[in-house]
Amino acid sequence: MSALIAMDEAQLAALVKECGQPPFRAKQLREYALKGTPVEGMSSLPKSMRDLLVAKGVTALAATVVQSKTSAIDGTTKFLFAFGDGNVVEGVLMKYEYGNSVCVSTQVGCAMGCKFCASTLDGKVRDLTAAEMLSEVIAAGSAAGGVNHVVLMGSGEPLDNYGEVTEFIRRLCVDLGMSKRHIALSTCGLCEAMDRLSKEEYAPVLTVSLHAPNDELRKRIMPIANRYPVREVVAAAKRYFDSTSRRVIFEYSLIDGFNDTPECAKELAALVKGFPCHINLIRLNPVKERGLAGSSKAAVAAFSDALTGYGVSNTVRRTLGADIDGACGQLRRKFLGGEK
Ligand code: SAH
Repeated sequence: MSALIAMDEAQLAALVKECGQPPFRAKQLREYALKGTPVEGMSSLPKSMRDLLVAKGVTALAATVVQSKTSAIDGTTKFLFAFGDGNVVEGVLMKYEYGNSVCVSTQVGCAMGCKFCASTLDGKVRDLTAAEMLSEVIAAGSAAGGVNHVVLMGSGEPLDNYGEVTEFIRRLCVDLGMSKRHIALSTCGLCEAMDRLSKEEYAPVLTVSLHAPNDELRKRIMPIANRYPVREVVAAAKRYFDSTSRRVIFEYSLIDGFNDTPECAKELAALVKGFPCHINLIRLNPVKERGLAGSSKAAVAAFSDALTGYGVSNTVRRTLGADIDGACGQLRRKFLGGEK
């Protein structure tokens, strides 16, 4: 391991010793790493030490930005991060009135197989480590003057990488001083892991991908529905609310003629009735390989109005970065040559 961000206190102390430097340098290294300062720029270290670190192949972060694209429409920046083993993932920095939000990937690829998602087309390659995910946040934030919110909504199923993901969230809170209320984790609904997460000291805001109001439809687009019936997923979301007192958010991507009918709105409203939750509606971002189309603007508005009529709190999410391959997994596929 040659990234400072991945080293614990003992490893930093050992490195400082190897460089023939006094122990207080370990704290400096840690602070620089958390800011994402490149080794060459760690100006309070002696030049000889910086040269030695560079010669040893030591870097501040465990990810490097290999490509970034900024939307001319809304300033959203999409990043491609590369890791030591050559794997790449995507991350997005979004600018809102309330601050900067970074969307991070938690795995290279994904094993969940959702039919509308580009991240899962080639399955899962590997889990990311906590230090790698933290590096995504720091690298994206250092270009934009800091990060206020983190969402685990890039490629990967965060609850399928439970240990590293919860360690990552802990480090966001402890090392970067972020509030757990400013961290949102999105899952396709792994019920046991949702229950486990609800008991964590640093339990984040939970977002659950529903995308269909019943198992019959859900199974057609989300293989995980064969393992967990949608009623169990909603019951686990309710328990998450009971345990954390945080309102749960459901994601619902509207697919033309598939899950955007008035009947679906009615069924969805009945499904989530009875506890404080919120539904995020988003028009499906079409992925070439998938052959599914997003609902029309009128259908999205009608669906939202219907939910409101049933008393269900909901918002239609703006699509940011439409000109920079904003949808999950698409920039990476272009980069790897998977999509022309
Ligand atoms: N594995 C997590 C995180 C996935 S990405 C999960 O399933 O929640 C975050 C959200 O984007 C999920 O709700 C996912 O279903 C949705 N998503 C994936 N591809 C999409 C697409 N092409 N258009 C719209 N939403 C998409």
